[in-house]
Amino acid sequence: MSAATRPRIGVLALQGDVREHVHALHAAGAEAVPVRRQAELDEVDAIVIPGGESTTMSKLLGIFDLHDPLVARLRDGMPAYGSCAGMIMLASTILDTRPDARHLDALDITVRRNAFGRQVESFETDLDFAGITDRPGAQRMRAVFIRAPWVESVSPDVEVLARVPEGPAQGRIVAVRQNKVLATSFHPEVTGDRRVHEYFVEMVRR
Ligand code: GLN
Repeated sequence: MSAATRPRIGVLALQGDVREHVHALHAAGAEAVPVRRQAELDEVDAIVIPGGESTTMSKLLGIFDLHDPLVARLRDGMPAYGSCAGMIMLASTILDTRPDARHLDALDITVRRNAFGRQVESFETDLDFAGITDRPGAQRMRAVFIRAPWVESVSPDVEVLARVPEGPAQGRIVAVRQNKVLATSFHPEVTGDRRVHEYFVEMVRR
């Protein structure tokens, strides 16, 4: 099928919760394939960068010779979605990381790694997500945070889609979009709520 109806979306499969994203993308109407080599990257319309551990992922991108090809595709405008460690990988500036960690610089945001850790390592909350939970009759979204980053600041072209609704981190930015690049601090791939993946598949179709 053509990219317009059933886009072929790669999931970067070096490390992290790859299967959960593959499953969620299938359920959201895409063809989903793991990407470990440049030849596989060349074949996809878009990429998902999963949750996991960003400094490890960074190292593996170098070992698998995928860093530069991925940056090149992103510069060419390939749509991308990153959850948690994936958000960190897509960001332009990262706080509290290792000095040698490389990232993809596709989203004009500053993220702080393990930001919630000072208060609580992992937690769940229900939040509002612009473009999804504001649809008629839609429910708030369950968001699972696991040693998550938050977005410390965004450039003017970045749209803020979700913030922490309450508690000690109230107001912190946890979902953003800039053109065709989407990122969430939390893990929609683990909840069974497919709306973020559907939103991304729709972004890829357009
Ligand atoms: N803390 C991890 C990192 O820094 C991200 C955690 C996650 O993806 N669940 O990469």
